[in-house]
Amino acid sequence: MAKEYDYIIVGQGLAGTCLASELLAMGQRVLVFDAPAMPSSSLVAGGLFNPITGRNRVLTWKAHELFPFLQQYYRQMERQLGSKFLFNLPLYRPFASMQELNEWQGKSTDPRYAAFIDFISPVPWQPQLVKNGLGGIMLKHTGYLDTHVFLARFRLYLQARGLLVAEQFLAPEINFTGDFVVYKDYRARQLIFCDGVAGFANRLWENIRFHPVKGEVLQLKIDYKSDFILNRNGFVLPREGYYLAGSNYNLTDTSWRPTTAAREEIVAKIGKFLQAKYEITGQQAGLRPTTHDRRPVLGLLPDKPQIGLFNGLGTKGVSLAPYFARQFARHLVSGADLDKEVQIGRFFN
Ligand SMILES: Cc1cc2nc3c(=O)[nH]c(=O)nc-3n(C[C@H](O)[C@H](O)[C@H](O)COP(=O)(O)OP(=O)(O)OC[C@H]3O[C@@H](n4cnc5c(N)ncnc54)[C@H](O)[C@@H]3O)c2cc1C
Repeated sequence: MAKEYDYIIVGQGLAGTCLASELLAMGQRVLVFDAPAMPSSSLVAGGLFNPITGRNRVLTWKAHELFPFLQQYYRQMERQLGSKFLFNLPLYRPFASMQELNEWQGKSTDPRYAAFIDFISPVPWQPQLVKNGLGGIMLKHTGYLDTHVFLARFRLYLQARGLLVAEQFLAPEINFTGDFVVYKDYRARQLIFCDGVAGFANRLWENIRFHPVKGEVLQLKIDYKSDFILNRNGFVLPREGYYLAGSNYNLTDTSWRPTTAAREEIVAKIGKFLQAKYEITGQQAGLRPTTHDRRPVLGLLPDKPQIGLFNGLGTKGVSLAPYFARQFARHLVSGADLDKEVQIGRFFN
């Protein structure tokens, strides 16, 4: 007799973890497949969350919904898993010009931005660490998620309940019986792929315009203790006992291997704002699962509603995963609507 579940989830990165936690919280029977030997973007990520990003320093998409929700979600998960992995840290952005200082002073009168501004200063801040002759801005409601701890603790939680299969899921071996999806000795009402870039090769998604975007991070040793993130076209983030620096964006290289070129690119980026001396102690590379319109993609296949997808978290998995996992779980369990911009149907018209 096959073991029966409501949902089988493939992948335990940020997407699979958040979705599994939401479905379990709704009383659903869930089984997660995750192959420890396969690469994971979530385990390379800096884990930063920052509501004001990009060259034009604009509020990110849905910032006023995503940022309060991520606090609520990860805090609840910390309580459930008995561990700490969400770190709220202010983020300092040195100014490159007087014009930028003026722009920020203007923006600070707009209540949408004011909510995220701690202070604006025309004088240098911690100059032993930061090159910031023109001063800078300190943002709040920023920080990082320790993705390693979050994913490892949730994995233990699943293992302790017999809900994790630590092996590669082979999509061509899926069968359908009546209303069920059958795979080896398991059957489920629905099978949801949360397999990041590995899933791009799956022919089920050939309509979806996915693009892997490679990025790398460096581990640094700096003899200076700071309690804020530095960010200006690159970031330097204090972690427990070391710093993490990144990142870069490469649209052509689809390997998971670190490169000298990326290392030099990151060194050049952080050299523009990091004053303190440092030593590079490690380097990692990953592929961000991105869609052509930079929005997540979720939903059930129009012609095979037993199969679903939660992917396309791109550069912002930490802030997007919890919000859209809840939305997707409600959609799956009780038919609630999904935001138009993220629906899988946009690729099937
Ligand atoms: C260098 C870099 C820096 C980043 N920095 C940030 C940041 O600061 N903030 C931020 O929010 N985001 C950041 N990101 C983006 C973030 O990492 C992604 O948005 C997010 O991790 C994607 O999560 P995912 O669960 O979709 O994919 P993944 O994390 O890749 O998870 C997919 C999982 O599925 C498993 N899997 C795949 N196929 C199978 C199979 N057939 N069977 C079993 N298991 C399978 C894999 O082993 C993996 O565990 C960064 C990414 C990179 C590369």
